[in-house]
Amino acid sequence: MNVQDKTVGVLALQGDYGLHEAQIQRLGAQFREVRLPRDFEGLDALVMPGGESTTMNILMDRFGLREPISEFGRTKPIYGTCAGMILLARNIERNQSGVKPFGMIDIDVARNDYGRQIYSFDEELIADFHGEKKAFRASFIRAPRVTRVGNDVRVLATFRESPVLVEQDHILAASFHSELEEDTTLLEYFFRHFLLDTATP
Ligand code: GLN
Repeated sequence: MNVQDKTVGVLALQGDYGLHEAQIQRLGAQFREVRLPRDFEGLDALVMPGGESTTMNILMDRFGLREPISEFGRTKPIYGTCAGMILLARNIERNQSGVKPFGMIDIDVARNDYGRQIYSFDEELIADFHGEKKAFRASFIRAPRVTRVGNDVRVLATFRESPVLVEQDHILAASFHSELEEDTTLLEYFFRHFLLDTATP
């Protein structure tokens, strides 16, 4: 099956979902904005963008999306960046704002742990895609730090000794934004490894 035949949902409640959509299109797949439970019909994968997890948390409840997302994530691939990673995590440290994470990937995260907005930065990092090493651009903007990684989680990239790109089964999560620039390396990996039948071992 080709990427052209795939429809990738993008959680479009808040945040920079438009940039993910542009990358999905650039790679030749279809995208659909997900705002309501019925938007999951026929989707092959879901992207949860960066933005503000507290706002997304409120809007997911308001639009009845919590159960459909949980259900979808049981069998279908999900890629979360930044706020999306926070929502996919098992636990959020010092979780004063009461964001309810889905627990789809066995990691704990500390929100905003790379510093405030003014301390945002870009890095060129190296991912180890199951033996294939590739450089990619990562933008850290009030990014979550991964503070615990469960045994079943594979770390694909680290930055200053913290895991920043992790996967478990069909769930992929990044501390940073991979969608801000031209570089589609991570989305290509997500498509190749999770969406198409050409999975690397
Ligand atoms: N700090 C944001 C949060 O906690 C995430 C930042 C981002 O997605 N760039 O939701």
